[in-house]
Amino acid sequence: MSRKPIIAGNWKMNLCQSEAKSVFEGVKNFVKDYSAQELPTIVIAPVFTSIAAVESVKCDCGCGCNKISIAGQNCHWENSGAFTGEISVEMLKDAGCDYVIIGHSERRQYFSETDEMINKKAKAILAGGLIPIICCGETLEQREAGETDAWIAGQIKAALEGISSEDVAKSVIAYEPIWAIGTGKTCDSDEANRVIAMIRNVVSEVSGAEAADSIRILYGGSVKPATIEEQMSKSDIDGALIGGASLKADSLNEIIANTMKVACNA
Ligand code: PGA
Repeated sequence: MSRKPIIAGNWKMNLCQSEAKSVFEGVKNFVKDYSAQELPTIVIAPVFTSIAAVESVKCDCGCGCNKISIAGQNCHWENSGAFTGEISVEMLKDAGCDYVIIGHSERRQYFSETDEMINKKAKAILAGGLIPIICCGETLEQREAGETDAWIAGQIKAALEGISSEDVAKSVIAYEPIWAIGTGKTCDSDEANRVIAMIRNVVSEVSGAEAADSIRILYGGSVKPATIEEQMSKSDIDGALIGGASLKADSLNEIIANTMKVACNA
């Protein structure tokens, strides 16, 4: 089956309201000349405090803004309550989000997020009608020790535990080797494709062939306008999760344009 590509920008802890608005406007102006059919699914994940600012420049006038979806960069699995500093799926939905990134390696590493927490978050996101972008990835030490496949398979099995095949089918996974994030060292595209195909096999094992065929699996880690075409030409890479290169409209637009050259046949 043909899976619609996704280009997702993860702004991390960057871009205050006015900056976020201006990058968003730049992407909006670029996509206005293309139909939703031609474009990949475009997702932008601003910091929580910039979501409303970005939403305020969205409208349904056909100018292109409705072709960009918004994502939260994290969420809690409970709906509300005494969880200082957290945000719920319902709140993200209320703010206009359609997606939520979970399990990013920075959250796992700096905020001690566990596979179990990520699984709870995925379930809450799907129950709330949003789509999780579930991140996984190995360290350089794990790669050098030949542990990549077993480690990633374990992360995916834990994240998808107890989720129905229908929900898995609409979810998104992002394979992001930790050593490639923010380092300028992109994973070789054949190797990224091999790991992503392996992830698809794991999904097939736990959720069935149909879910494995539908789920979109992205590559992330130093994606740039110059790398995306080759990455998107691979059999199992369905798009990209982009940090640094998504912070400027020009480079994000170039990534979107280069994606359309090879992969937008949905
Ligand atoms: P990068 O970040 O593109 O800056 O490497 C990717 C990510 O962490 O999602």
